[in-house]
Amino acid sequence: MHYVYIGLGSNLSDPGQQILLALNSINELPNTDLVSTSSLYGSKPLGPQDQPDFVNSVCLVKTELSPQGLLEALKKIEKDQGRVKKRLWGERLIDLDILLYDDMEMTTEELTIPHSQMHLRDFVLKPLVEIAPAIKIPKLGSAEQLLAQLADGYLITLNS
Ligand code: ADP
Ligand code: MG
Repeated sequence: MHYVYIGLGSNLSDPGQQILLALNSINELPNTDLVSTSSLYGSKPLGPQDQPDFVNSVCLVKTELSPQGLLEALKKIEKDQGRVKKRLWGERLIDLDILLYDDMEMTTEELTIPHSQMHLRDFVLKPLVEIAPAIKIPKLGSAEQLLAQLADGYLITLNS
């Protein structure tokens, strides 16, 4: 059994609802169970600013899927939910990123674990620390400390 943190983001078509839909799909993956889910957070987009704010969340799952198998399953959920790539860092119906997979470190053409940008993003670290206060990122250390080091951004809690 593997413990995996997944980051979710959406800024189109009722984003909070898109996140809940995706959480439901993740829970229904084979040999995979949702263990916990953070609150929903509102954040400003990276990249192009002429797009709606994002809703973000992080969940913890217990799974027997391999990193590659999980990535493929998550890409299928994104596609089934209607995600269409528009532009880099642009608007999206649903974005599902593997943040941490046990304490694994790996880099292939398709998959970098830990997620390469996670330590720089408050909209990832804040929900992550909410559900895993003591979590450490391989090589980088405490997520809580990494979050404290970030410049103040714009992040609001939408529910709890
Ligand atoms: P982004 O999430 O960077 O905004 P995409 O969701 O379109 O952009 O992902 C682009 C590619 O990133 C995916 O096709 C996937 O193969 C790759 N990728 C690399 N590492 C990861 C990871 N840890 N989780 C999810 N996708 C990843
Ligand atoms: Mg992604």
